Amino acid sequence: MPELPDLEIIREVLDPRLAGVQIASVELVRPLVVRDLTGVGFAEALEGRTMSGVSRRGKLLLIHLDEDLVLAVNCKLAGRLQYAQPEERRLPKTHVVLGLSDGRELRYSDRRTMGQIYLSTGLEEIPGWADMGPEPFELTLQEFKERLKPFRGEIKGVLTRGQVVAGIGNAYGDEICFRARVHPYRKRTSLADDEVARLYGAMLSVLSQAVTNLRERVGTDIHVEVRDFLAVHGRGGQPCPACGTTISEISARGPTNFCRSCQPGGLVRL
Ligand SMILES: [Zn+2]
Repeated sequence: MPELPDLEIIREVLDPRLAGVQIASVELVRPLVVRDLTGVGFAEALEGRTMSGVSRRGKLLLIHLDEDLVLAVNCKLAGRLQYAQPEERRLPKTHVVLGLSDGRELRYSDRRTMGQIYLSTGLEEIPGWADMGPEPFELTLQEFKERLKPFRGEIKGVLTRGQVVAGIGNAYGDEICFRARVHPYRKRTSLADDEVARLYGAMLSVLSQAVTNLRERVGTDIHVEVRDFLAVHGRGGQPCPACGTTISEISARGPTNFCRSCQPGGLVRL
């Protein structure tokens, strides 16, 4: 699942390359992921449009077009954007192919068909837009504490739900809890002030370092998800980089990885 750092790099790659480029053709190989909120028709509304730039909000990638149209891509679990030459092999389960006026293609593939591509004239029409929490880098520690307060559940679940803070998913949720030395299943209500402060600091440092790492690694192959620099996520059974204890993995609701020595406490659940 692409999260804030992944999408931030995709934005950096696509923004200068798509700005000023026209969508020459729209091929809906599998139209299931497409949500046309304009009433005009997805392909009809897009063909001939010029893109003005790419931005990001939470886990949404926003491709801006002329006349205030916007394409909002929510990759969910398995969606991938591919920026390619037409002769390059399509990824399995490619759903949408935009042919661009510069001869390239922007493609969306999704093995699980769970993502959505909204075409809209207003961002507020996109489901979930109004509920989205602020961007992590726009929050002060005090605001972070205030936003956590209404949520009483497990801290990883709180950080990844999107209403508290936008853009954090399963992978970076694990990384933030690890760096903060907080067990991911600790209840928010059980956290001391200094633990919340550690989570805040870890959130900012984990995300910004990931952006720096990915910027060096991804290039224009934006469909490749680079995760090998993560400390605990996806590393169940391997030694903890801090203490050498075997990293735990609990696979309910998507795998959660943590080090039971560095992150003590929390209920052990199956
Ligand atoms: Zn450890």
